[in-house]
Amino acid sequence: KKYVYFFDEGSKEMKSILGGKGANLAEMSKIGLPVPAGFTITTEACNKYYDDGKKIDDSVKEMIFNNLCKLELKTNKRLGDYNNPLLVSVRSGAVISMPGMMDTVLNLGLNDEATEGLSKITDNPRFAYDSYRRFIQMFGDVVLGIEKYKFDKILDSVKEVNGIEEDIDLTVDNLKEIVKKYKELVKKETRKEFPQDPKEQLMMAVTAVFESWNNARAIVYRNINEIPHHLGTAVNVQSMVFGNLGDTSGTGVAFTRNPSTGEKKIFGEFLINAQGEDVVAGIRTPKAIEELKNIMPEVYEQFIEVTKILERHYKDMQDIEFTIEKGKLYLLQTRTGKRTAKAAINIAVDMVDEGLIDKETAIMRIDPQQIDQLLHPTFKTEELEKGKNIAKGLPASPGASTGKVYFNSEDIIEAAKRGEKTILVRIETSPEDIEGMVNAEGILTTRGGMTSHAAVVARGMGKCCVAGCGEIKVDENNKLFKAGDVVIREGEYISLNGNTGMVYKGIIETQEAQLIGSFAQIMKWSDEVRRLKIRTNADTPKDSETAVKFGAEGIGLCRTEHMFFKDNRILAVREMIIAKTTEDRVKALNKLLPFQEEDFIGIFEAMGSRPVTIRLLDPPLHEFLPHKDEDIKELAEELNMDIKILKETIEDLKEFNPMLGHRGCRLAITYPEIYEMQVRAIISAAIKVINEKGIEVKPEIMIPLIGHEKELEIIKNLVNETAKEVMNDAKTQLNYKVGTMIEIPRAALTADAIAKHAEFFSFGTNDLTQMTFGFSRDDSGKFINEYRQKEIFEKDPFAKLDQSGVGKLIEIAVELGKTERDDIKLGICGEHGGDPESIDFCHRIGLHYVSCSPFRVPIARLAAAQAAI
Ligand code: PEP
Ligand code: MG
Repeated sequence: KKYVYFFDEGSKEMKSILGGKGANLAEMSKIGLPVPAGFTITTEACNKYYDDGKKIDDSVKEMIFNNLCKLELKTNKRLGDYNNPLLVSVRSGAVISMPGMMDTVLNLGLNDEATEGLSKITDNPRFAYDSYRRFIQMFGDVVLGIEKYKFDKILDSVKEVNGIEEDIDLTVDNLKEIVKKYKELVKKETRKEFPQDPKEQLMMAVTAVFESWNNARAIVYRNINEIPHHLGTAVNVQSMVFGNLGDTSGTGVAFTRNPSTGEKKIFGEFLINAQGEDVVAGIRTPKAIEELKNIMPEVYEQFIEVTKILERHYKDMQDIEFTIEKGKLYLLQTRTGKRTAKAAINIAVDMVDEGLIDKETAIMRIDPQQIDQLLHPTFKTEELEKGKNIAKGLPASPGASTGKVYFNSEDIIEAAKRGEKTILVRIETSPEDIEGMVNAEGILTTRGGMTSHAAVVARGMGKCCVAGCGEIKVDENNKLFKAGDVVIREGEYISLNGNTGMVYKGIIETQEAQLIGSFAQIMKWSDEVRRLKIRTNADTPKDSETAVKFGAEGIGLCRTEHMFFKDNRILAVREMIIAKTTEDRVKALNKLLPFQEEDFIGIFEAMGSRPVTIRLLDPPLHEFLPHKDEDIKELAEELNMDIKILKETIEDLKEFNPMLGHRGCRLAITYPEIYEMQVRAIISAAIKVINEKGIEVKPEIMIPLIGHEKELEIIKNLVNETAKEVMNDAKTQLNYKVGTMIEIPRAALTADAIAKHAEFFSFGTNDLTQMTFGFSRDDSGKFINEYRQKEIFEKDPFAKLDQSGVGKLIEIAVELGKTERDDIKLGICGEHGGDPESIDFCHRIGLHYVSCSPFRVPIARLAAAQAAI
């Protein structure tokens, strides 16, 4: 078996045995680019090392030495030779890049004799001895396990004794002294001389790299990034080239296109007379790559040519490391360059235009999560230092916002009227806060997780939100909050980053997102290949319009409860809840009817002939009632009611577990007149829009929280009878559908029985997740992070669908539903409908559509296309 490959024997397809770096070095050598010669010891050799009980087998050793011979012939140098010493680097190179996790040794091959030789042939003793002392330290640290600080101490003492500040001012004699002391340190620590035999050095270094595959930080890194532990690392042995040999030498890094904008122009930096680390370390300020043109025009031209070859060859933007040694260009690495969302989109579309890649490849190159960046406001980069970070919560809804702090909806509304930009800060939000949320720039809560009310509503509005920020203490009465020692009072400015969960004191200016031409192009291509339809969760005409603009093909969930809080309707809603008789309740509901009708007309008009799924009332009724004494008093006066009786009624409506209580379809089982009013409003609104606007409206009436087929049977009959009545009165027939949400495990398990009464299923995976795990979506924020740290959950199951548990229930429901009704329409409307991985799952199990908040519609379009490719 072949365990060692000379660079020209490998190729980029051999990543699994040569590692990423090795495969690309081989590929570059193969296509004739200037790569310093070398060879790669395979990942299989690393695994064999472990299988053989941490021993490098003789056969592998032989292959290494054969390749070393080849390298010596090729470079016309010899390891450890006085006349022409070969120096090599020994670097790890895993299949999946693990930056900085494993070990590297540079300048290997130096010993007393070779250093003398190097000094002579370069005519640069300072360079030779500086390289030697660096090598002893690196080898001592990485291979011999001598702590680095012990070397640093020696270096510092020599500098101090000689009154030297910077390493660069060390003389040759200083360096020789340091080398001598380093060698003494090695002898003291290891009880052996520093190895003078370069072959011994090489084998020790290779062993050390193999060992570093299993060092503590590499293991942790693999765990975090889900990289399998059995892959092993390859080892690259490559002849050294030096960028620090004077003014015709240098080193740099460059991207073949701009990684932040995608502009088709090389982007990079270099330093003259420096080594690789110096560019990264930021000690000296590098020059822009264009300047190389003035300094070394020929090398520059050659480099530009090389970047073109690499792009054409790899068909993607490359991130390249290079060194110039005495006017000669060498490539040390190439890999696919990391980029922003904007750059990713521009580069992908440009490359299709250039004929480098096809449309499908372009679609696959863009990370759907990443394009979120393009849809929301962001902080201006130059403004970032202006804010002081004071706390961190959950990044509940993306975007950036800045504004004055207020602690309740009324104050926000007042401030908005004065033209102020505001941030709503609450312990947690409830539907009562809707108007405040609409008027605020951003929302900050101390309680609640990723599917808490604040998070869900903010995402729906495309508004920045940081939720569950337990680090701050809100004092709503005194209108202030504390973050550690910092106190922020009403009217003071804070800024929120909904992408990171960071909270800042002070103003950080934001900028609106710009949608660029290429973005529309990618969306168009995505629409051509995807099979899933994309709907939106919207409950206002404005959100509906936003969603349509982003490409929504219908509404998958219109939550009607928010409409109950608008304007002065809440009084009628409260009257309805408090009513003691059906008659009184109907009276109150009749007041709401025209408002609901108006809402639906607005939404139908915004959506045109696209399907609109309207969910009948879902939340527990107590959410609509006041809880503070003063508010209760006010309501009692408005309703002309005795305050004591009102208090008792409110008390009676309280539940221990309202989310598992009297809500959803259960409300309609006890008070059918509520749904009856809503159905009247839907059907008459639809008829009006049809008759007056000639729009072919497609309403779909959705019953929430069904657990038993009989619930649905009863309510479906109510819906149909009511609809019939309205249609007969209006003498207009209308096509509408009646379906249900699948949110309760029992509904999923009996989906065949339920499908008898449902023309469609929409998976409400927020509740389905809550009920399957048995933990509250509003309280899980408190412990979910701990669960993730302990690796019980890889991800928050309220954000990413738990495919093996909750997903299994969905699969069961899909199958059972289809056996009863083969044309049943299937969709998802929980938060997972906007998550790419969950969308992929929905595609695989054959759902017809996903529904997500308006701002996630473009993400879902892309994710659905990727699922189909
Ligand atoms: C759900 O439960 O997934 C759902 C969409 O309904 P809501 O979030 O309004 O409970
Ligand atoms: Mg629900």
